[in-house]
Amino acid sequence: MSEDWGRKCYNHIYPFLNCSFCSFSDFSGIDRLCDNAELAAVVEWLKAEDESRLERLWQAADQVRRENVGDGVHLRGLLEISNYCVRRCAYCGINTERKGLQRYRMSQDEILAGAGQAAEYGYGTVVIQAGEDYGITAEWLGEIIRTIKSDTALAVTLSMGERPVEDYRLWKEAGADRVLLRLETTDEQLYERIHPSSGRGGAGRKEILEACGQMGYEIGSGVMVGIPGQSYESLGRDILTFDRMDLDMIGVGPYIAHPDTRLGGAATGETEQVPATELMTYKVVSLSRLVRPDANIPGTSALATLNIGTGRENALCRGANVVMPNLTPVCYRSMYEIYPAKACINETAVQCRDCLRGRIESLGRYVAAGPGNRVRKSVNGNVLSRLGGLDGGGFV
Ligand code: SAH
Repeated sequence: MSEDWGRKCYNHIYPFLNCSFCSFSDFSGIDRLCDNAELAAVVEWLKAEDESRLERLWQAADQVRRENVGDGVHLRGLLEISNYCVRRCAYCGINTERKGLQRYRMSQDEILAGAGQAAEYGYGTVVIQAGEDYGITAEWLGEIIRTIKSDTALAVTLSMGERPVEDYRLWKEAGADRVLLRLETTDEQLYERIHPSSGRGGAGRKEILEACGQMGYEIGSGVMVGIPGQSYESLGRDILTFDRMDLDMIGVGPYIAHPDTRLGGAATGETEQVPATELMTYKVVSLSRLVRPDANIPGTSALATLNIGTGRENALCRGANVVMPNLTPVCYRSMYEIYPAKACINETAVQCRDCLRGRIESLGRYVAAGPGNRVRKSVNGNVLSRLGGLDGGGFV
């Protein structure tokens, strides 16, 4: 047995006590035991309903957020550059099977103007997102990235889908900084169900993220909360995976049914079905903060869509430290309809900036300057000790 394994076992199973398991020889078994204990703790929190107990979760996440990433809120300007897509994702309103949706692809000039706006508004990052659109060639986007990097101090984040790793390599060489690719779920069977004929399955997304991490990108991922067929256990495993993958960014939002998709019929009535609610999403935001204390975590637009009044603010008080103001020209916004009734669909970029700044300052927080890269912190304890500690040592 190596020292590390012993330490891992000690840390995972008995965070507060001496561990007698370390002399055992079957370490894969111990690893499973560790995983099971962590999973049980996460699932228990996902099912928690008692308000005063949940208040402890919010407060702990808020405190861990403050200690690890501070009070600054990073603004990442979002440009939805194309709604063409080759994928058939059963939940997504811009999937290739969606009929009657007008498709658009922004020009290079429009994208550069959007990035210029992000710089002018003091945002540290521009996020370039699209359906998986091979009408956008790697070289074409590479040129845009190169121009943004030479003309501005912006960090460039890409959210372009399951493109070949060579594309991501070219974009890295052009200067891109970060990649977002949600796993959507870590449950293989559920993944297959919501991604008909997806080829490589969910493993493909994980492989792309890992390859991007090795190239030097910051990597971000996440899941939808309450996707039909999602059980508490599977969502719990998703959250633990955020820790295992050492994600730099974690984005989670509620699933919002789109009537013109295969999955549009809303959640199933299965008892173990996770509800796609605001409250459940806050729990996932808080737990994500507790498992990965130094990650950058946004209050997502999907959350704002469920609660335009205070969705993002609540997320910022329950573990989140990032917001993504929309910079997509208003004429395209309604066409990037991944789900219906998206928040702020008619707001101009200026209105969006002013509104968000006001909301952030009303919480006693401030808009952070600079690109807002992840700043790694050595993290105290482990998942179990952080979650168990909330109830005074409760879970182990
Ligand atoms: N083509 C890119 C970007 C997809 S859109 C990619 O594949 O990564 C960005 C995210 O929106 C998706 O990853 C998904 O998690 C989320 N999304 C899509 N449809 C949704 C829906 N109906 N409800 C909530 N979130 C949705």
